[in-house]
Amino acid sequence: MSENKKVVIIGSGPAALTAAIYTSRANLNPTCIAGYQPGGQLMLTSEVENFPGFPEGILGPELMGNMRRQAERFGTKFVEADAVGVDFTGPLHKVFTDEGVYEGDAVIVATGASAMWLELPSEERLRGRGVSSCATCDGFFFRGKEIAVIGGGDSALEEALFLTKFATKVNLIHRRDKFRGSKIMQDNAFANPKITIILNHAVEEILGENHVEGIRLRHAETGELTDLALAGVFVAIGHRPNTTIFKGHLEMTENGYITRQENSGTSVRGVFVAGDVNDFRYRQAITAAGSGCAAALDAEKYLEALVS
Ligand code: NAP
Repeated sequence: MSENKKVVIIGSGPAALTAAIYTSRANLNPTCIAGYQPGGQLMLTSEVENFPGFPEGILGPELMGNMRRQAERFGTKFVEADAVGVDFTGPLHKVFTDEGVYEGDAVIVATGASAMWLELPSEERLRGRGVSSCATCDGFFFRGKEIAVIGGGDSALEEALFLTKFATKVNLIHRRDKFRGSKIMQDNAFANPKITIILNHAVEEILGENHVEGIRLRHAETGELTDLALAGVFVAIGHRPNTTIFKGHLEMTENGYITRQENSGTSVRGVFVAGDVNDFRYRQAITAAGSGCAAALDAEKYLEALVS
């Protein structure tokens, strides 16, 4: 019976928790290695207004708390420790943590990705108070306001273009004299009257005590400082998938995202992947949750085939 089989889920964002809800309801005894700081990227956001089912919106941490309680209700065991290594060579897959080793007939990897930040103290202090890394999530809050987007890749260009729907003016600020993003998106950004492009400037500081009031820029060559008054800063300098422990164990893209083989399967039989650790395109809570469901269903099918 596949009910005697065990699933280990690594992660604790929407992908991991949805996989936990589905696998626990299928009696697959999931253990979720949630990490010392559980909840994923949604723990860093405030209001989530685009997750279906919450017409008034819901706070990110509250949404994650609800998902976790739902998984616990059906018997998911949570381990508050980071996964520090894996061994996928035996018949049982092993996940190592500081608290011990967890073995599963199937493993679902949902360790997510982390937005890269400028690493300024003022940026950290004002995160969720005008500083964001997700235009789709937070753009709506900047209707009628002036904002800045930081970065020079496709993400920054795309976010700047998207944010013109809400903001009165979008300052697109890049540290070099050339964008890295695609030509077509650059052309669109240059042609958009709501976008002001500021090249050769690094962000020195984000200004404001309790919410963003402006930004201080430093010219890359002259070092001259300029302050701009604005209400929001979108940092779009890339994401890093959380895949260090899977290097050499699972196939990945050159950027370190775990690749899928068949459905949500990876390069190792019995190891499945869900959420942002595989997805650099959509990166939404709802798409992560959907892929967590798919990985759980694929794991269940795999385990049924193992016992039959
Ligand atoms: P990316 O291509 O790595 O670009 C990151 C940008 O941020 C670069 O311009 C980089 O500057 C800048 N940057 C990095 N660290 C910085 C720092 N500490 N301070 C200031 N600036 C910093 O990342 P991405 O834009 O997220 O794109 C990732 C991948 O997804 C790319 O392959 C992209 O094509 C793809 N993507 C595609 C689409 C689409 O097709 N619609 C949309 C989004 C992303 P430098 O240029 O100086 O290195």
